[in-house]
Amino acid sequence: MQEISVTRSTNLKAKPADESALGFGRLFTDHMFIMDYVEGQGWKDARIVPYEPFAMDPAAMVLHYGQAIFEGMKCYRRADGGLQLFRPTDNLARMTRSAQRMGMPALDEETALEGLKQLIAIEADWVPHRDGTSLYIRPTMISMDVGLGVHASKTYRFFIILSPVGAYYKEGLKPVSIYVEDEYVRAVRGGVGFTKCAGNYAASILAGDIAEKKGFSQVLWLDGVEQKYVEEVGSMNMMFAYGNTIKTPMLNGSILPGITRDSILKLARQLGYETVEGRLDIHEIFEDAKSGKMTEAFGTGTAAVISPVGSLCMKDERVVLGDGGIGTLSQKLYDTLTGIQYGRLEDKNGWILKLS
Ligand SMILES: *Cc1c(COP(=O)(O)O)cnc(C)c1O
Repeated sequence: MQEISVTRSTNLKAKPADESALGFGRLFTDHMFIMDYVEGQGWKDARIVPYEPFAMDPAAMVLHYGQAIFEGMKCYRRADGGLQLFRPTDNLARMTRSAQRMGMPALDEETALEGLKQLIAIEADWVPHRDGTSLYIRPTMISMDVGLGVHASKTYRFFIILSPVGAYYKEGLKPVSIYVEDEYVRAVRGGVGFTKCAGNYAASILAGDIAEKKGFSQVLWLDGVEQKYVEEVGSMNMMFAYGNTIKTPMLNGSILPGITRDSILKLARQLGYETVEGRLDIHEIFEDAKSGKMTEAFGTGTAAVISPVGSLCMKDERVVLGDGGIGTLSQKLYDTLTGIQYGRLEDKNGWILKLS
């Protein structure tokens, strides 16, 4: 592991006065963690420095050919005031998998975790206190070579920035309406769907905008070949409950292997539910929703944890799921996982890393 140098900011920002108005990803803390990679030398110059803009060459490769990957996780404040992370090593390992697919170097995960811990120790007062709030953590890796030749860059930058974020749900879980996208696709077999690369988001923005204008809050993506099998939603994996069984799309290379997905599947099994990972035909999903065989549907992801689906719409057909409200299973899984994350419930799976 590398030594990490620390340069403190001499110009600290005021902390947000009203934690009910934090929103998502608008404010950033006083410091950031950076390390740089040079081919032949590896990762080096690990440092915590004041948060400030990067100076970048306009010909930097990331700006043209898009070698950019990121992660998203949170630091939670317990009722006793202490801080903790949820499965951080899984996020860093996933970043290395994203990097490998994008022709980028494996992350120095040990130094990244140590850098994150030291950064949070310095920024501890930025972790909000209010119920449901957290400090969002955004590790990112970009290519830095200067030049327009298309090849893998020889230099990269890894950085971590932190943002205090508000409660995703201010008044309890809220069901969302979802538009099944039947024109555009997000990812294809052999592509980069399983990575958290910036381009996957760029490719999804247009469809998201169109759906939003039609009054939907999220797009559900279908597979890129037959446009028939459920993939995922925005930045969430999808799950469908059939009584005591939970079905979810299998990890097929084109969906993102969510850490919330994995955690919810484990918790559901521990709570006595059966879980099935497979190919889910959207037409069957609609039939099962109409007949009542399917009892609930919800998305899973770090931001919302659980996002209950109130209705699904495909072309002109709309189905309401359950009673259109919040299912009991969605609520139970949400309460269980957030209970573990905020330290209200015992962590039997070794997921929590206590920082203080
Ligand atoms: C990040 C992300 C998810 C959810 O992953 P978590 O690890 O649970 O936060 C799901 N789908 C996509 C496309 C994502 O980028």
